[in-house]
Amino acid sequence: MTLTLKCQLCPKGCELAPGDSGNCRVRRNIDDKLVSIVYGYVCTAHIDPVEKKPLFHFLPGTKAFSIATAGCNLHCLNCQNWEISQSNPEDIQSSYCPPEKVVEMAEDGKCASIAYTYNDPVVFYEFAKDCSVKAHEKKIRNILVTAGYINKEPWKKLLEVVDAVTLDIKFINDENYQKVCTATLAPVQETIMATPKAGVHLEISNLVIPTMNDSTEDLRKLSKWIKENVGAQIPLHFLGFYPKYKMKNLPPTPAETLEKARKIAMDEGMQFVYIGNVMSGEGQNTCCPSCKKLLIERSGHSVIQNNVKDGKCSCGKEIYGVWK
Ligand code: SF4
Ligand SMILES: [Zn+2]
Repeated sequence: MTLTLKCQLCPKGCELAPGDSGNCRVRRNIDDKLVSIVYGYVCTAHIDPVEKKPLFHFLPGTKAFSIATAGCNLHCLNCQNWEISQSNPEDIQSSYCPPEKVVEMAEDGKCASIAYTYNDPVVFYEFAKDCSVKAHEKKIRNILVTAGYINKEPWKKLLEVVDAVTLDIKFINDENYQKVCTATLAPVQETIMATPKAGVHLEISNLVIPTMNDSTEDLRKLSKWIKENVGAQIPLHFLGFYPKYKMKNLPPTPAETLEKARKIAMDEGMQFVYIGNVMSGEGQNTCCPSCKKLLIERSGHSVIQNNVKDGKCSCGKEIYGVWK
């Protein structure tokens, strides 16, 4: 018997006839079963500072063993990793690396965590989950770097084995989400809200693209939404855009625009707002929201000094994060 299967993993809800792959290219109907064809096939592996994810309030100064497979369920015109995310798994070089091996490599590299990143871990869901379980057995934490385009139930299950999520919200405008990323805003908002509810550390990033999402109105709306729905304590990273892939017609984000975004978010009450992909003094450091003392000084992805003690500032204010 041959069956058409509906994938329930992400809101795209692909219907797969026998032999078909979904919109992400890496989930296929094989012998009436939905199979993740990239399970264990790692195409990129690096040891990165955790700050590069970006995560600024999660084990600062530690290393994250970072892995990816082929495929993605989004097709952003400005994708920075399009060579892997927009490839068929057959077309790129991968090594077979089962979960035990991934964890062993993270241990060998003295990494405090494994980051599932570069392409979206949503599309290698089963592999990320199995690696995460094995990592916890060795006291290694798990980080998802994701666009958060996933259905509620699978997300809830994945959060059970994950310690931190850094989620890239692309636009606060649904039309642009569809036009640039082939996705929609509402499911991403659901994913964001579900994360701290599950007790998982959350940071949010937003790539600021000239003319697409850099208006005062959009930046204010985004900051307001985050504050009202997950709270002022969630670290927010505004990242600079560089012309890439199918969006080479727009200029890189000026540093002043990122400074403007940071100011707007802080005026809206967000407590920890950072600037990434360009050098910025204040936009890289963490200050206490109560007494304003400098808590963590950074330079690029390096931590210069960290004055957070037992999760607190010396004034007694608890600082949102995972510190040990
Ligand atoms: S995960 Fe892939 S196959 Fe499943 S619904 Fe999303 S795009 Fe389609
Ligand atoms: Zn303080």
